[in-house]
Amino acid sequence: MSSKILIANWKMNGTLDFCFSYFESLGKEVAPPMLPERARNIVFCAPFPYLFALQGRLLEKGYSLGGQDCAAYDAGAYTGEVSAAMLSDTGVSYVLVGHSERRSYLGESNEICRLKIQQAHDKGLTVIYCIGETLSQRKEGALENVLKEQIQDALPKSVTYENTLLAYEPVWAIGTGQTPTLEDIEETHMLIKALAGSHCKNYSARVLYGGSLNEKNAREILALSKVDGALVGGASLKPEKMAQIISLMPENV
Ligand code: PEP
Repeated sequence: MSSKILIANWKMNGTLDFCFSYFESLGKEVAPPMLPERARNIVFCAPFPYLFALQGRLLEKGYSLGGQDCAAYDAGAYTGEVSAAMLSDTGVSYVLVGHSERRSYLGESNEICRLKIQQAHDKGLTVIYCIGETLSQRKEGALENVLKEQIQDALPKSVTYENTLLAYEPVWAIGTGQTPTLEDIEETHMLIKALAGSHCKNYSARVLYGGSLNEKNAREILALSKVDGALVGGASLKPEKMAQIISLMPENV
């Protein structure tokens, strides 16, 4: 069985003290310590200002570091933006692109996501590209079309198994405590894999599930055969919950 991947998205939460104490607590909770080849598939997407401070601590434990976004451009007069090259310099190996919060609050389009994905690929980062439907799109029966557009309009031809993960995050499931049924998740992941494969020939996409995944539902969601891992928001802010989710990854059960 290929190893599943767990991404923690801290969003705009935490302090420097939180960052340091988090990994001390996590270290005590995750027992026995993970082998480096397993730990490497657990990625912490921390706020930009803390990435550099976290680099040593995370890498020493074998975990990977991720950014929550990157700029759509190489360098230049883009005040406040952080480039893919800067992330890479900071020890980051993964980056989230197209999170629904950025799409809805900042108007991030599929076209902008495409530029960001290209930047990340050019700088050697692995992209976690987030896609998913709103509740009204789901009710209108537009799920397949929404996913198709998000894939077709944003995934460049440089996409490969190694450099791009897809995260299926139904917008209505993020931070709400609601999740699709297990059958729905499995079916939608199958659909996403098919859409991605027909858009980019030879792209065998790994698809992560995100949206209210926690220590109570992680076991059954992560056990699904079409689920290649998970993106965890709220629950990842508590080291004891994150440790439980790690212990429920199929290879650790
Ligand atoms: C997310 O925002 O990517 C997410 C999965 O959040 P939560 O786990 O809190 O629903």
